[in-house]
Amino acid sequence: MPFPLSGRGKAVAAGLLAAAFLLAGGILVFRRDSLPQANPALRSAAAGLTDYDAALRLIPEEQALAISETLTYRNGTGETLDSLVVRTWLNAFQTEETSPAALEELYDACYPDGFSPGYLTLYDVIWNGEAAAHEFVNDDQTALRIAIPPLAPGESGALFLRCVAKIPSCAYRTGYADGCWQLGNVLPLLSVYQDGEWRTDEYFPIGDPFVGECANFQVSLTVPDGYVPACAAPLQKEKDGVWRGELLAARDMALCVYEQAAVAKGKAGGAVIASYAATDSEAKRALEDAKKAVETFSSLYGDYPYPALTLCQVSFPFGGMEYPALCMLGKDQYLPGQADSLELTVAHETAHQWFHALVGSDGVNQPWQDEALSEYALLKYVQKRYGQSSFETLKYYRVDAAMAENIPGGLTPGSPISYFTDYADYRAVVYGRGAALLISLDEFLPGGADDFLRAYVKEFAFQFASRQQFEDFLNQYAGLDASPLLLDYLDTMMQ
Ligand SMILES: [Zn+2]
Repeated sequence: MPFPLSGRGKAVAAGLLAAAFLLAGGILVFRRDSLPQANPALRSAAAGLTDYDAALRLIPEEQALAISETLTYRNGTGETLDSLVVRTWLNAFQTEETSPAALEELYDACYPDGFSPGYLTLYDVIWNGEAAAHEFVNDDQTALRIAIPPLAPGESGALFLRCVAKIPSCAYRTGYADGCWQLGNVLPLLSVYQDGEWRTDEYFPIGDPFVGECANFQVSLTVPDGYVPACAAPLQKEKDGVWRGELLAARDMALCVYEQAAVAKGKAGGAVIASYAATDSEAKRALEDAKKAVETFSSLYGDYPYPALTLCQVSFPFGGMEYPALCMLGKDQYLPGQADSLELTVAHETAHQWFHALVGSDGVNQPWQDEALSEYALLKYVQKRYGQSSFETLKYYRVDAAMAENIPGGLTPGSPISYFTDYADYRAVVYGRGAALLISLDEFLPGGADDFLRAYVKEFAFQFASRQQFEDFLNQYAGLDASPLLLDYLDTMMQ
């Protein structure tokens, strides 16, 4: 089912699309270097990372994405490994019991036509040219352990996976809905090795359970003629009709494919911003908001890292969802009268490019570390662009109100996502009360929290910062012991 446009809207979108394709065909087919290029900092961050070479083919009639993926991995763990773990998040959508979209408060919005399963069917799992034994090691089949001959520290190998992803009919960050293939967390990705083992967290329904190392992605994508791909890796259609591109030093590579879409493009902070939506005016609105967000956060927290940022209008019961170099934005945000809501959502999701994409953190056990920081960054965005009184108003609704709310169950901003059972509590505690920590730091640190966060981003760019590292870095930066403050805001129950 295509986007619910009026007949006239459809004609306009189709006309724009045709114009975009003519333009794209003229420029892109012959000049691959017309794609946005990685800057030297990104190229240097990309050296030595795991390389993915992914060939994707969308097969709409089977509601499937065929995936052939070669992952070239160098063992940087310092230990000899006899297995790898690959995250297969799509498998969680196989049953109502494990699907994150089947959470009671989301179910009707995500599955308006009833439950629809999504899963990966594996055809080949090959390590260095030999078929490799493999098994799922968690209940929702989102962690695939692959046995390999001993791989010493510093040694490399190549894993080849061939599989077909059955995409559920589901208005979620993974699913087909309203003429859009929303393909977040579909690519199988190597898990993270921590404390002597591979992470195998389940797909918890509240929050974002994804923890990934930066890697490089080369992608080729085949879609039916006329479809519009919108990918975190900027793509261009080549002479053979295949779309190709690369994304360097990123923790994941998300994409959407539209049956039809309007596209608006602009530049901010040295990056090309591409916005995809049902209508030209919607695409332009999100584009303008993202330009402001990228400019504001670049000045506060350091340069935007990637050569492009892609904004995808999608159907899901959320404001937005962040991926490296790509934001999904819920189409309700674009409704007339929701201009502020769209702008705030775009700002929050764009802030995640610094606090999630650039500096990775543990979204399962310390979700505040990207959510509270992005929510605080949103408040500073409003303060910088619209002044102190707008900042105070937003702070009242999003932070002070959360501090005053009566929340059951001993939840604190430092709680893992598995403790939460509904999104209202999660937002109030992790986003709102979590942001209060940063507001307190802003008053307490001589240079304010923004200077600290800028230093934090610089210190941990393209790496992973644990809560302990955040705390140690803060103590070192401020020259004092901030641990009691963190305990107070992150771990203390409010009565
Ligand atoms: Zn967020």
